[in-house]
Amino acid sequence: MQNIIKEIRYYNCGYCTNNLKLVLKKHKKEIKVFPAGVFLIKHQKKGYILFDTGYSTEIYNLGWKGKLYNLFNPTYVEKSDQINIQLEKSGIKCDEIKYIILSHLHPDHIGCVKYFKKAKIIISEDTFNTYKNNKIRYLIFDKLLPKWFENNLIIIDDKKLVEGKNKYFEYYDLFKDNSILLTKVNGHALGQICCLIENKLFLGADSSWGNEFVGKANNFRIFPRFIQFNMKDYIVNDTLLETMKKDGIELCFSHDTYDKEVIKL
Ligand SMILES: [Zn+2]
Repeated sequence: MQNIIKEIRYYNCGYCTNNLKLVLKKHKKEIKVFPAGVFLIKHQKKGYILFDTGYSTEIYNLGWKGKLYNLFNPTYVEKSDQINIQLEKSGIKCDEIKYIILSHLHPDHIGCVKYFKKAKIIISEDTFNTYKNNKIRYLIFDKLLPKWFENNLIIIDDKKLVEGKNKYFEYYDLFKDNSILLTKVNGHALGQICCLIENKLFLGADSSWGNEFVGKANNFRIFPRFIQFNMKDYIVNDTLLETMKKDGIELCFSHDTYDKEVIKL
């Protein structure tokens, strides 16, 4: 059978930097760039779907919370990096985006939601609850979200997220065609959702910092442990990612560096 999704388009929408010496035990000083990745999925029947929305320059206008975020996570973003601008350059209007899947609500994933008023926004029930009962440790800067945010939501509840099961996890088949399987990957953020596309490619959001970090969660220093919502869950899922990788599933994380714009399936 032919794939319903034939390719994923990658956009680098701003970045932050971190010193790997503070991330991994026994690592030498190395300042590494972590891009904020956005993935554009073209579904043959449903149209364009975005997986996350990257940074926006609003990250510099968030008062003391934003300043603190920038201190621990030096952030670089210009207008031209924003996904709304980059899509227009690719000839795609913001209003053509039918759905946005938000893995979680950290600032490097929700920066440009406000440009997509026509899109239905898909989040997990846990993510919605963290948004409603916002606490500083959830790292949700709701000032970045538009007023109409709640009106556009499709909330995937926990019952739905366990409707199906494969070798790796329980999932929800978003369009009932096996093209996009949503699964909850706790650890980094409560209720984070990731997607298995066409059973070949896994959009892993922040379930790992990148392919080079898969299987290394046990080597994390205090700083990266501290910023995960639940380190125990993070380590369990790190092992799962390792298994998927060994099985030949392509893992695409939000903060990996990509040398190609189009990832063929
Ligand atoms: Zn995050």
